[in-house]
Amino acid sequence: MTPVEYSPASQAIVKAFEAVPEENQSASYWSNDEVEPVRAEIKDHYILEQLYHCVYCARQIVTANKALWDAEHVISRSKASRFMFTPRNLAVSCRDCNNAKGDKEIRSNPKRKSFPDGSGHYLIVHPHYDTYADHIRWFGDICAPLSEKGTETLVVCNLTRFTAKLLGIKGIISDPSFDEQVGQLIKAKSKLEALSRIAAITVYVENIPQK
Ligand SMILES: [Zn+2]
Repeated sequence: MTPVEYSPASQAIVKAFEAVPEENQSASYWSNDEVEPVRAEIKDHYILEQLYHCVYCARQIVTANKALWDAEHVISRSKASRFMFTPRNLAVSCRDCNNAKGDKEIRSNPKRKSFPDGSGHYLIVHPHYDTYADHIRWFGDICAPLSEKGTETLVVCNLTRFTAKLLGIKGIISDPSFDEQVGQLIKAKSKLEALSRIAAITVYVENIPQK
């Protein structure tokens, strides 16, 4: 994915922020009115760059209406405001993934000072450093993680919500044993094996306490 390149006007705003000593950089600066053109530039760029797909759930939202997209900070602003405008820390996501992810820690070494500029620094699938299809595969509304990063992304962004909706379950499924069972279903080599996996998942799901 090509990172955003700021216009001269946006660059000036970004540079002014990055010149502030780190301890005085506020995560809420992002929401200031003067930052609006920068936010718009970021969204416009990544909506097109991602071909209208959310970086986490891969769902397509065919609109360039910025109100329907969230600017996504892979490393959240509250965890490291110094990366607020770092192009490779930015993408767009759907609102549900962004809300689920919140300000969870997704770095393998949160103490690192400089920007983590490679796949190995992240616990989840990174929109700039990873190939999504290597880590997550979708079968309709069932998410099959193909790697540890895939599993972590599934949990962090609550990607089982689609399955939950499909199955009519209220609440959140995000426990390793459910993921494991879904993974086993995907790997089933025969119809009989698949049916027995489905039966096992059904029993498991029916035993999830309703909220
Ligand atoms: Zn999403």
